Amino acid sequence: MAGRVEAAPERVRIFDTTLRDGEQAPGFSMDTAAKLQMAACLRELGADVIEAGFAAASPGDFEAVRAVAAAVEGPTICSLARANEADITAAARALAPAKAKRIHVFLGTSPIHRQAKLRMEKEAVLEAIETNVRFACEAADEVEFSAEDALRTEPEFLAQALETAIAAGATTINVPDTVGYTTPDEIFRIFSYLKATVRGVEGVTLSAHCHDDLGLAVANSLAAVQAGARQVECTVNGIGERAGNCAVEELVMAIATRADLFGVETSVNRRMIGPASRLLCELTGQPVAANKAIVGANAFAHEAGIHQHGVLSDPRTYEIMRPCEVGMGESRLVLGKHSGRHALRKRALALGFELHDNQLAVACQEVKRFADTARSIADADLLRILSRLAARHEEAGHV
Ligand SMILES: [Zn+2]
Repeated sequence: MAGRVEAAPERVRIFDTTLRDGEQAPGFSMDTAAKLQMAACLRELGADVIEAGFAAASPGDFEAVRAVAAAVEGPTICSLARANEADITAAARALAPAKAKRIHVFLGTSPIHRQAKLRMEKEAVLEAIETNVRFACEAADEVEFSAEDALRTEPEFLAQALETAIAAGATTINVPDTVGYTTPDEIFRIFSYLKATVRGVEGVTLSAHCHDDLGLAVANSLAAVQAGARQVECTVNGIGERAGNCAVEELVMAIATRADLFGVETSVNRRMIGPASRLLCELTGQPVAANKAIVGANAFAHEAGIHQHGVLSDPRTYEIMRPCEVGMGESRLVLGKHSGRHALRKRALALGFELHDNQLAVACQEVKRFADTARSIADADLLRILSRLAARHEEAGHV
């Protein structure tokens, strides 16, 4: 009897903007050499699209986009461009050496952007989208259009703007929450509305680009995926303008860990998550917080005795992912004032000390006394404590 054939899960494309939106954040700029190193790593990570920069922004940015376009094969290479000929031409020239190239044209659509920044009426905005998307289509293999500040745009006008971009030839339609203002419920409703209303939407890829001003970038991106987004724009370590962008490691691991809920997949090589995060920290000199999900120093560390005992018996008691799966080494059992005997026995054994029950009790007390004054206990500290106890033990006549 033939078995039931399961449909393959749909793929969510990863559009990595570490080198553009990420790099725009204060303290995160990278020169061409650094961008090249990071781009090679993003390729290994499995990014589908690498936004290498904003060619018209500066000669350095132009140079970096061109260098990445020439050196990195596999992913599509993208440059950002405002909706004008000069920007689009600069993007096209910088992207020329790439095998697969995309120009990412953006224009503000929300009332505040139209009135305060662009000083354009709705009609003029639609006209600029039409003209510039058409112009970009002649200069690159594919064009992405972003309605900047989409989540604060009147839904009917947003739909009109996106329809115009599709009719002009854009094949990826990005709906950015430029200012990190939306919530999961709201973005789900807006993506659902666009899917149901925008003419031509079935022939293009809908994309989410969320900022973390309210700490919701990953949650909002996941809600957009649930409503049909099939590209998510993200960055390594979640870097980006102000509070940052959707963190690629968090998005990818949520989709993988809760495959039961999302039913989609990405092409990310998860073992490269740790190395990509560490390389970015090294290149920018900006560390991630210890409690950062997936890539923080504490993401797979356990100090509480009850947790340590559980993890030693079966890591699944307190870990929903394995650190080796995401290139983060092994789980760490940290000795401190909250830690327990099981972890101490294991750590002592690794240092060459086999502790029997009574010795373990004494060692445990010593460790806790030390930990009350120190933040954590390094191997050197533990060695000192254990050696002192062993010497005392021998003096007392034990063998
Ligand atoms: Zn952004």
